[in-house]
Amino acid sequence: MTAETFVIVGASLAGGKAAETLREEGFEGRVVLIGAETEAPYERPPLSKGYLAGADERSTAFLHEAAWWADHDIDWRPGTAAVGLDPESRTVALHPADTITYDRLLIATGSAVRTLDVPGSDLEGVRYLRTLDQSDALLAAFRRGEPVVVVGAGWIGLETAAAARGHGCPVTVLETASLPLQRVLGDEVATVYRDLHLAHGVDFRFGAGLREFRGSDGELRAVVLDDGTELEAATAVVGVGIRPVTDLAASAGLTVDNGIVTDAHLRTSDPFVYACGDVANSFNPLLGRHLRVEHWANALNGGPAAARAMLGGTEEYAPLPYFFSDQYDLGMEYSGWVAPGEYDRVVFRGDPRSDANAPEFLAFWLRGGAVLAGMNANVWDVNEDIQGLVKAGLAGRPADPAKLADPDVPLPDTLA
Ligand SMILES: Cc1cc2nc3c(=O)[nH]c(=O)nc-3n(C[C@H](O)[C@H](O)[C@H](O)COP(=O)(O)OP(=O)(O)OC[C@H]3O[C@@H](n4cnc5c(N)ncnc54)[C@H](O)[C@@H]3O)c2cc1C
Repeated sequence: MTAETFVIVGASLAGGKAAETLREEGFEGRVVLIGAETEAPYERPPLSKGYLAGADERSTAFLHEAAWWADHDIDWRPGTAAVGLDPESRTVALHPADTITYDRLLIATGSAVRTLDVPGSDLEGVRYLRTLDQSDALLAAFRRGEPVVVVGAGWIGLETAAAARGHGCPVTVLETASLPLQRVLGDEVATVYRDLHLAHGVDFRFGAGLREFRGSDGELRAVVLDDGTELEAATAVVGVGIRPVTDLAASAGLTVDNGIVTDAHLRTSDPFVYACGDVANSFNPLLGRHLRVEHWANALNGGPAAARAMLGGTEEYAPLPYFFSDQYDLGMEYSGWVAPGEYDRVVFRGDPRSDANAPEFLAFWLRGGAVLAGMNANVWDVNEDIQGLVKAGLAGRPADPAKLADPDVPLPDTLA
C-alpha cells in the first residue's frame, strides 16, 4: 500500500500546528505544507506587541527554526500558493506550477486584511498589519518617532497605538463608534480601554470618518477627516477588520458562509477536506451554533484538532472561545462569547477605574444571571475558573452577581 498524502494549505499557526500534530500522532505518510508567505510558519500576536514594541527579538514569532520542518519530514513549500482545488480528482493546483494529489486536505488559509479605497491609499506610509514584513516596516517607522494616525480602534489598532506610543510617536486614533472595542466589549469595559489610552497620551477622534490620505512626492503627510480636519501623519495604520480567505474553497464548490463551513470535526462539505483556524466557520457543540473565531487560541488548538480528525479521530472540537491582549501595562484574557448587545448586565470584581494605567479587575458579562463571558485584567491564574463559570452558564446554571463582585468568594462558589 502506498503511503497517504496529507496536504495542508496555509503555513501559519493553524496549518503549522496541524502538520506538527500529524507527526506527533505517528502519521508516517507524506505531509505537504503549502505556504504563500516566504517566512517559516510564525505566530502573529508578537507582530503588534513584543516585537513591534522593540522588546522581543523577531525570532520569537516563529513556531520553530526553519530547518525543523524538513527535520520532521514535513514538505514545507514556502512562497507557494494553492490556486485551484478539484475535490473530484483530489488535486490541488499550485503556483509556481505544480499539482499535488491528496488523500486528505486541510485548508488553513486564515484571514486577509480589509483594505480602504479612499484617495491617497497608495501613498508610502499607509500601512496594514497582518504579516511579519508589515510589522518590520511599522517598527522601522515607529522608531523614527514621527506622528502616527491609527484608523480603527479594534484590537490591532489599539495594540499598534500602544506600541507607537512606546516609541514616543504622537498617536491619533480614528474610530467611527463612540468608544474603542465597543462592539466586542460593550460600553462598560470599552471605557477602560479608552481611559487607558488617554492616560498614555493618545488622541482619540470618535465618530470620525476618513476622507483621504494626503501626501507629497508619494509619501503620506496627513490624514484628512470627513469634516476637513487635517491630521499630520508620517504613518497611518489601517486596522478596519479582516475577511476569511475562502477563495479556494468557494471556487471548488465547498459550502462557504462567513468562512468555510465545517462540522464539529472540522470537516467541510467535502468529506476529504477539512478547515481550521480563522478561515473556518465551525459548528461548536458547546455553544450549539456555528462560529468563526479570529483568535490565536483557535488556530493553536484547531490545527491539532483538525489533524487528529484527518487521522480518523472522533473527538469533537468544542473550544470555549478565548483571546488575550496586551496594551501598555494592561494584560488581559477573555473567555466566552457574547454577540453585540446580547448581555443584560456587567459585573466587576475589583475597580476598573482604580488605576487608569494598570487596572486590576475581573469583568463578567451576564444574561439572565448566566455568565456568558468573563475577562481577567492584570489578574492571573483565574482563567480556568472563569471558563468554568461560562461553561456552567452555557449549561443553564446562573451565578450570583453579588458573589461574583465579592473578591472574598472563590469564583467556583459564585454559582447559584
Ligand atoms: C498583528 C496581529 C496580532 C494578533 N494578536 C492576537 C492576540 O493578541 N490574541 C489573539 O487571540 N489573536 C491575535 N491575533 C489573531 C491571530 O493571530 C489569528 O487568529 C491567527 O493568526 C490565525 O491563524 P491561521 O493559521 O488560522 O491564519 P493566518 O495566521 O491568517 O495564516 C494563514 C496563512 O495562509 C496563507 N495562505 C492563504 N491563502 C493561501 C493559499 N491559497 N496558498 C498558500 N497559502 C495561503 C497566508 O499567507 C497565511 O500565511 C493577531 C493577529 C494579528 C495580525
